[in-house]
Amino acid sequence: MIAARNSRRADAIGVRLAGVSHEYVLDTGTLRVLEDIDFAVPPGSFTALLGPSGSGKSTILRIVAGLESPSRGRVLADDVTIKGPDPSRAVVFQDATLFPWRNVWRNVALGPEARGSVRGGRAAQHDPRIVRALERVGLTAFATAMPHQLSGGMAQRVALARALIGDPAVLLLDEPLGKLDALTRGVLQRELADLWQSSGFTALLVTHDVDEALILADRIIVLSERPGRIVGDLAVNIERPRHRADPNFVALRSAVLGWLGFPD
Ligand code: ADP
Ligand code: MG
Repeated sequence: MIAARNSRRADAIGVRLAGVSHEYVLDTGTLRVLEDIDFAVPPGSFTALLGPSGSGKSTILRIVAGLESPSRGRVLADDVTIKGPDPSRAVVFQDATLFPWRNVWRNVALGPEARGSVRGGRAAQHDPRIVRALERVGLTAFATAMPHQLSGGMAQRVALARALIGDPAVLLLDEPLGKLDALTRGVLQRELADLWQSSGFTALLVTHDVDEALILADRIIVLSERPGRIVGDLAVNIERPRHRADPNFVALRSAVLGWLGFPD
């Protein structure tokens, strides 16, 4: 079976980590976090990084975002070394981190406003980029709601809209659904899959939820305990939308759980 591909876009960007190791310098010495990480994320693909807590997943994402430089090795976006953050690579974190005094659309407008491409006034609500971003995450009716009026799932939708507004070629997702209840999580997983298929961005998702990785990704990279090394790498060739009871899904779940140290 061939996995459905997302729509190609002319400016799709691939990401590559080559021999990346990382350590944090602490008062008590150095903490080795990543060891010799090598993988490439092809343009337009969806890769999930799965591993135990502390295995360096968020560190990998921060390195790709350009928020951290690796102690050793290289990290490239379309064969150009990543030297710092860039609007072509947007990040969504576990916490929506909305400004409580700004309503939904004003939170979404934050990035373009800071870059001076949207004026802060009332008219900005009708800026096509903001309208479109809210549409894409299903929040049109909540444009003027305040953050305290939103459920956890809606707050994460705002965070997603904020990341999508600049139409990033690469979307970096650090357990974006990690704090949501199981039902909301399931709904947002489906929405994220749809967004990826319609938008054509390259996605790199960090998660410790095996089923989430299997629902969303076309490739799963499994990390060991700290220092994180790649212990498993698997293609998810299952047609979308995916179903947890599908025998292929069940078989892949056992393989991944085995790599994580939970053989059945
Ligand atoms: P994961 O996302 O897989 O849980 P992280 O990349 O967040 O792992 O962290 C890996 C290890 O590095 C953890 O032990 C964490 O405590 C440590 N760590 C993360 N960020 C820093 C930092 N800025 N300074 C020092 N140690 C850090
Ligand atoms: Mg993390």
